[in-house]
Amino acid sequence: MRILVDRRRCEGHGLCEGVAPKLLSADEGHAELLVDGDVPTDQQTAAVIAVRVCPIAALRMI
Ligand code: SF4
Repeated sequence: MRILVDRRRCEGHGLCEGVAPKLLSADEGHAELLVDGDVPTDQQTAAVIAVRVCPIAALRMI
């Protein structure tokens, strides 16, 4: 499982960071992935929640 950030859509709301702080940072005004490659097993639930909370659907799972 991986997370993709659509940087053209992301508006930097930071909700994703709030629910998945080990996976995403929104400090620079847009979401940045903090993991390279597959989401660790213990972070997969947080990843799913992050995708769901983004208000503009800028995140997706592959
Ligand atoms: S919640 Fe969505 S819009 Fe906000 S920083 Fe995360 S990816 Fe970007």
